[in-house]
Amino acid sequence: MEREVRVRFAPSPTGPLHIGGVRTALYNYLFARRHGGKMILRIEDTDSQRFVPGAEDYINEALAWLGIGIDEGVREGGEYGPYKQSERRDIYRRYVRQLIDAGRAYYAFDTPAELEAKRAEVANFQYDASTRMQMRNSLALPADEVKALLDAGTPYVVRFLIEPGRDVEVNDLIRGKVVIKSDILDDKVLYKSADDLPTYHLANIVDDHLMLVSHVIRGEEWLPSAPLHVLLYEAFGWADTMPQFVHLPLLLKPDGKGKLSKRDGDRLGFPVFPLEWHDPASGNISSGYRESGYLPEAVVNFLALLGWNPGDDTEVMSMDELISKFAFDHCSKSGAKFAFEKGKWFNHTYLQNISDEALAELFKPVLRARGVNPDDFSDSYITRAVSLVKSRVNFVSELWDNARFFFVAPEDYDPKAVKKRWSADTPAIMDELVALLEAQPSFDASTLEPVVLGWISDKGYHLGNVMNAFRLAVVGECKGPHMFDITELMGCDATVSRIRKAVERIRIPE
Ligand code: GLU
Repeated sequence: MEREVRVRFAPSPTGPLHIGGVRTALYNYLFARRHGGKMILRIEDTDSQRFVPGAEDYINEALAWLGIGIDEGVREGGEYGPYKQSERRDIYRRYVRQLIDAGRAYYAFDTPAELEAKRAEVANFQYDASTRMQMRNSLALPADEVKALLDAGTPYVVRFLIEPGRDVEVNDLIRGKVVIKSDILDDKVLYKSADDLPTYHLANIVDDHLMLVSHVIRGEEWLPSAPLHVLLYEAFGWADTMPQFVHLPLLLKPDGKGKLSKRDGDRLGFPVFPLEWHDPASGNISSGYRESGYLPEAVVNFLALLGWNPGDDTEVMSMDELISKFAFDHCSKSGAKFAFEKGKWFNHTYLQNISDEALAELFKPVLRARGVNPDDFSDSYITRAVSLVKSRVNFVSELWDNARFFFVAPEDYDPKAVKKRWSADTPAIMDELVALLEAQPSFDASTLEPVVLGWISDKGYHLGNVMNAFRLAVVGECKGPHMFDITELMGCDATVSRIRKAVERIRIPE
C-alpha cells in the first residue's frame, strides 16, 4: 500500500529563514498538497548555543505571508507533538538509551581539551574504529570505571558506533542511488549530558520516525548527513519505514560560481530573506521581500522555478497550478542560479494581474511613509492613480516615483525640460489654457482632449511645446501617463492651480 505522504519542514531557529529555506518549505508544501498529504513544521532547537530569539516567530510569519500552510506544528498542534524539539527531551533520552542497550552507541568522557590534544597529535584525527579504543569511552574503559564515572555525574556524550567496511546506500528521488563507504564516517555525537539534549542527527531521525514522515525534502547541504541517517534508521530497526530522501539543488549566486550568500544580495541589491529581519544582537536590519514590495504570489512563483519546471515552458503559475504540476522528476540535480531579475519580472507580472483596488491598498502604506495621508483622497482616486502608472513598475514602492504628482503638487520642475519646453511666450499660452480649462463643463479625457488639441491647432501653436509645458506644470517633468487621463483624475481645480503655480515659479532660462 502507498504510504500516506507526510513531509516536514524542520528549520533551526538560529536566525532569519534564508530564501533557500523558504524554497525548501515551498517544495515540501507543494509535494504534500499534490498528494493530499500533511505538512509538518518542526522546530529543531536542540542547539541552545545558536538559538536566536524571534527566529521562530519569524519563520511562522514568513510562511504565513507566502501562503505556505502548515497542518501540524507548534501553533497548529497535532497528534505527534510536541513539535518543538526542546520539549521532547524525554523521548530522546529513551531512544538514546535504546541504542546504548543494543550496543549501537556508547558513552564518551573525553573532555574538549583531551580531544584537542588528540587532534594535535594525530593528523586528520577522526573519532572512529581506528581511534576509539585509544579514547576515554565505555568501549575502551573497564566497566567498573565507566560506572564510577557515570555515578559521579561526569559529563559525557553518547556517540554512534559506526562499523567500518560497509557500503551505505542513500536513495534520493532527485539524485538516484548514492553509495558511500562507512569508513569515512566518524562516530557522531548523538547526545550531550551537559545540556541533556540530543544533537541534530538523533533528534531528526527519531522525530521523522515518530512523526511518520514519508519524505525528507531538504537542501543539498544535508546530503552528507544522509548516510549517517540511513545507519541510524537501521540501528533503531526502522529501515523498513525509512523516509524517502529528496535533496534539493543548491541556490547559486546570480553571477559566477558558488552558493548564494547574503553578501550577494547586498552586492547586487536583492533581499535574501522573505521578511525584513532586525538582528537582536547587532541591531542590523536585513531587507526582506515583503518590505521590498514583492507580492507573496510572485515570490512563490519565482522560487518554485528555481530548481524545478513543470515540464514545459509555462512560467506564471498560481499556487494551485504549482500544486497540480509539482513532481520531483522535473527537479534538477545541478544548482539553480538565483536569477533575481527574473524575480522582479514575476513581481511586475503579478502586479499587473491583481486588481487596482488591491494595488491601491498596498500603495497606502507607501503614501503614508512619504508623508501623504491616504485618507485625504478617495479610494477611487488612489485606485485610478495606481492603475495609470502600474505598467511602469516592478514594485509597489516604485508606484511612488510614478504617481507622486497625483498626491503632491510639484515644487520643482525638471530643469532640462524647462530649458527645452518653457520659453518667453509660454506663460501667456498657459494663461490661455487656464481660461480654456475653466470654461469646460467636463474634464473627461475623451471630451477634453479634442477641445485642447483643437485650441492648439486653431492658434497655430506648436503641439509638442504646449503639451509638454502643460505636462511640466502639472507633473513637474515631461513623463507620465496620458495627459488627459491625468487631468480627468485630478479635475479642473487642481489642474488649473498647478498651471498657475508653474507660471509664477518657472523662470525662463537666460
Ligand atoms: N534543522 C535542519 C535545518 O535547519 C533540518 C535539516 C533537515 O531537514 O533534516 O535545516
